[in-house]
Amino acid sequence: MNILEIKDLKVYYMTKNGPAKAVDSISFSVEKNKTVGLIGESGCGKTTTARAIMNFVKEPGEIAGGEIIFNGRNILNLSDGELRALRGKEITIVRQEAQNALNPVMTIGDQIAEVILEHERIDKKAAWQRAEKQLDLVGISHKRAKTFPHEMSGGMRQRGMIAIATACNPDFIIMDEPITGLDVIVQRQLLTLINDLRNRLNLTALFIAHDLSVVSETCDEVVVMYAGKIMEKADVVSLYQNPLHPYTKALIHSYPSIRGERRKLKSIPGSPPLLVNPPEGCRFHPRCEFATDLCRTVEPEIRRINGHSVACHIVK
Ligand code: SF4
Repeated sequence: MNILEIKDLKVYYMTKNGPAKAVDSISFSVEKNKTVGLIGESGCGKTTTARAIMNFVKEPGEIAGGEIIFNGRNILNLSDGELRALRGKEITIVRQEAQNALNPVMTIGDQIAEVILEHERIDKKAAWQRAEKQLDLVGISHKRAKTFPHEMSGGMRQRGMIAIATACNPDFIIMDEPITGLDVIVQRQLLTLINDLRNRLNLTALFIAHDLSVVSETCDEVVVMYAGKIMEKADVVSLYQNPLHPYTKALIHSYPSIRGERRKLKSIPGSPPLLVNPPEGCRFHPRCEFATDLCRTVEPEIRRINGHSVACHIVK
């Protein structure tokens, strides 16, 4: 059963040169108790997709089309009150940069308790006890509940964010680059924690990352985005072992494996296009070594090939 279905979603940012099509007609779904990875380079539309799922796109951005069906309701049609009830309770988010996401003048225990009190009818004492349990759950001793964010390490702050995000047993969690910017050892510890929580809490999640090696550790399926479009979707093992799209292949070869397997890295030539005026045809064609005249003029449709969904003219 799908908890989330994104259908033909378009999110544009208005600029003086016209709309920048940050997310342009993407569709994918997330099944209950599964984790879907959303990967691609910076600016490909991953975080904009996350914001759209929370119906939190701010001006000059706007949701220009499509539907986001969550538990049978189109999030884009909800009232402000319904959205407030949804965010933090049914859908939560763990953002990159916990330093900025946490309130610097509240203890971590108070911040967890605050979320619980906002969404559940319990008293402060019970909320505080739940907050302490949440800290233990994410590997921070409950004795640290009165710690302020500036007294915590980067890894601890991110654990605190996960404690807040899971406090009200949400149906769906978005993890927006939760390990980016942390050192490799802390990244590994956090991935272990996230996997542990996935199993213990039966989480359904969207895990946003730059590279496939991180997603391969935590996800069941992967969606690869480039310049606001979906290039490839598949289950994680198949995508990692047998990528079909030239961009997916290039992405895999451009990042080291988090497990430390040795391989020669290869950067992707050029840079992602400006989304105000993206290339005709396949948006990846200026950087693709296999580009043909067809690629430069006709946008490839997404087709099912060997169990993958792929937007590429040459994949057979
Ligand atoms: Fe490369 Fe053409 Fe496939 Fe785009 S459609 S990825 S340009 S081969």
